[in-house]
Amino acid sequence: MVKLQLVDRGIASAAVLAAMNKVQRHLFVEETMRFRSYEDTPLFIGYGQTISQPYIVARMSELLEASPGMRVLEIGTGSGYQAAILREMGLKVYSVERVPELYRISGKLLHDLGYSDIRLKLDDGTMGWPEHAPFDRIIVTAASPVLPEPLMRQLADRGSMVIPVGGDERRQRMMVVRKEKNRIIQMDKGEVAFVKLVGAYGYSDAAVPAAGSGSSGAALPAERGAGSVQLPLAVHARNAKLAAALKRIRHKIFVLSGKGGVGKSSITVNLAVALAELGFKTGILDVDLHGPSVPRMLGLGAQKAAVRDGLLLPAVFSENLKVLSMDVLLDDHNKAVIWRGPKKADAVQRFLAEADWGDLDFLFIDSPPGTGDEHLTVLRLIQDALCLLVTTPQEIALADVRKAINFLRLTKAEILGVVENMGAFSCPHCGGKIALFPPDGAFKLAREYKLAFLGTIPLDPEVTACADKGIPAVLMPEASQAKTALFALAESVKNAGSAFSAGRRFE
Ligand code: SAH
Repeated sequence: MVKLQLVDRGIASAAVLAAMNKVQRHLFVEETMRFRSYEDTPLFIGYGQTISQPYIVARMSELLEASPGMRVLEIGTGSGYQAAILREMGLKVYSVERVPELYRISGKLLHDLGYSDIRLKLDDGTMGWPEHAPFDRIIVTAASPVLPEPLMRQLADRGSMVIPVGGDERRQRMMVVRKEKNRIIQMDKGEVAFVKLVGAYGYSDAAVPAAGSGSSGAALPAERGAGSVQLPLAVHARNAKLAAALKRIRHKIFVLSGKGGVGKSSITVNLAVALAELGFKTGILDVDLHGPSVPRMLGLGAQKAAVRDGLLLPAVFSENLKVLSMDVLLDDHNKAVIWRGPKKADAVQRFLAEADWGDLDFLFIDSPPGTGDEHLTVLRLIQDALCLLVTTPQEIALADVRKAINFLRLTKAEILGVVENMGAFSCPHCGGKIALFPPDGAFKLAREYKLAFLGTIPLDPEVTACADKGIPAVLMPEASQAKTALFALAESVKNAGSAFSAGRRFE
């Protein structure tokens, strides 16, 4: 069917027609849109982005005039459909996408379909991919205001680039740009309508939602003249529920660490308990579905989750502290949870929207180490999450925090500040300072990235011993260096949180 349309409209390349025939377009569009997969229209793929109509994909592929074995760079992976077509044409494909969710989803899909040799990157594609340059061909699948200079530079001699450029808001010119010796030859191939290329050499992103910004993470496509796309009602209802639940939570604090083993959960638990002790309504949501440790640290092992009026009831630690975690939902505590991406996202959404959190001053969200699925999901669902980064002073931990900061900046998340764990402590006998790692690393890192440094928690064997017993260190009757530092940290977090909400407009 598609083939007939394409031939009718003048696509003649056998390689392109064969590739278009081979790749099943319906696999690349949202489930709700599948019935329209083979129509000659652009389709919604989420995050305000669309997959081009088959004719445009075929036309751009043809304009590349590529032969098998050539290296091609695509900017705007989107659904991964165009990348798959290029691969089926026998090309070596590199593709860059700037929206984290699209990068993740298309990466998984392409992998599942056997296109593991397509190289993908999450980044601003207007900067190209210098490590793999030069490219024989470049294809840009979003509209650019100019010819991005880095892309021109990364084009091989006698290479060419296909790119929609300029024009007004809605319409651009499809250009084929050829580089020959040091000359640039531009050919105008007619009018097209694309979503915007956003980046350093593209448009500014003010109007374009990416994961972690924008209104619901499921915005409508930019004007394409294709009519607006309706989201199914169930999705609206769920989003409304989530919005209502989140509105009742003043500060959502997302605790992350680049690396495992830095004591992230211990910091989360102690901060939450300290704030609860100070009289604030507090909650902890443990989204680490693979190794939830929060309930164990709080000695909540025996409490089972209940459901009342369709709401999950969090476990109650004290009058001011509620806790919800996968662990609470599991009967067999040793059962490892192996859930797949979409299901996980679903669980996180339910934990937020369908749990009886009530009114909270602080909700701490504890995440697995690193920057993966869970993190993107939380940032997408909680648009005003404040991220708290936990690190130890070692260089390897700091290096991973740098990665996490870059990841958060890319997703436009707000960063509350950096906390150092396992810092220097005073010897209980002689009072001398003992530092296991070179000092000041976390402080300097915070300064380097212009982030708030919220405090350091000394390495105190008491803290670990407490956690194993299910008693948070802040609740130990005796004074300790760690306890003092944790309460001071709770103060800083409280103040930083208030400073953020003062600078932010809540409706
Ligand atoms: N080629 C895609 C569809 C393109 S839609 C497909 O086959 O499905 C345009 C895509 O370009 C969107 O996914 C958008 O997020 C992405 N994009 C926009 N600006 C970008 C940039 N600077 N770098 C990388 N991707 C970008």
